[in-house]
Amino acid sequence: MDSYSLSAAAKINLYLEIVGDRPDGYHELVMVMQSVGLADRVTVRRLGAHEIRLRCDHPEVPSDASNLAYRAAALLHQRFPKVMTQQGGVEITIQKNIPVGAGLAGGSANAAAVLVGLDMLWQLGLTQIELQTLAAELGSDIPFCIAGGTAIATGRGEQIDTLHGLDGLYVVLAKSPTLSVSTPWAYKSYRQAFADNYLDVATASQTRKAQLHASPMMAAIAHQDGPAIGQHLYNDLEKVVLPAHPDVKAMKTTLASCGGLGTLMSGSGPTLFTLTASQAAAEGIVQQMRSHYSEAELGLWVAPLLPSSLQLLES
Ligand code: ATP
Repeated sequence: MDSYSLSAAAKINLYLEIVGDRPDGYHELVMVMQSVGLADRVTVRRLGAHEIRLRCDHPEVPSDASNLAYRAAALLHQRFPKVMTQQGGVEITIQKNIPVGAGLAGGSANAAAVLVGLDMLWQLGLTQIELQTLAAELGSDIPFCIAGGTAIATGRGEQIDTLHGLDGLYVVLAKSPTLSVSTPWAYKSYRQAFADNYLDVATASQTRKAQLHASPMMAAIAHQDGPAIGQHLYNDLEKVVLPAHPDVKAMKTTLASCGGLGTLMSGSGPTLFTLTASQAAAEGIVQQMRSHYSEAELGLWVAPLLPSSLQLLES
């Protein structure tokens, strides 16, 4: 085959807790991640020339070596130096649907799709574990984007325990096209405000993970209990992002008043989501939100919770 096209889905965080500072400078996290049906299309196509090229249809996304998807291809080339001579180079094409800088891991999803697509194109025969290990070198969210579905993520987010998938639930995603939140800023602000509460990660991270496993959120996920999941949504980063961004806070209040099962900011924001029990309920919430915000003020998407992140569309 000379080309593979994959759908690369966004993620939301159903739960995000910051445990403390790690010796490597990252934060130790305990999270529940979930793939949702808002996806980019990523194509890897064999090139005669021994090089990596990238095209993306979104003006804010770089098309050079700084693009995470480019870096994924460069990492594989570095690890398998002979592969381009044997198999040819690659042109990566990204059609963006996931909003950029939104806390939805769009760049990470693209990088995961390139790792999996190139594993097929270059016939590398990598296992899921090998792909996730390479992914962790590129970025903390990328191993989850390879695994997809519903998972507990710990460490800096790269250690993934897959959970039984959630079926039949939907989200309304809401993001202002003009607002963005820098992820490094959000974590830095959290450290400044809450470092006194940080736990010693050497001893506490396993305990917090075990406590999450025994928590009402995990029981709700195990029972596919949408209303209970909605009740236990949690994100530590809301404590710094919402006070600093009153517009996002106001949007959250409005979204939460529309009758979903629960409303939360995803990752470092500014995207908000409301969980619903059906597509019809999600579409009803979109209609209500449209009486408060125009399309120019707020992007709204209805998306199912997905059992995986990557899907082969065409080869
Ligand atoms: P996360 O939730 O993992 O913090 P995010 O959803 O907030 O990520 P992204 O959309 O992944 O943010 O992009 C963040 C920045 O990374 C953007 O400003 C963009 O310029 C850069 N970037 C690099 N590669 C990509 C890519 N393939 N897609 C989107 N953005 C990319």
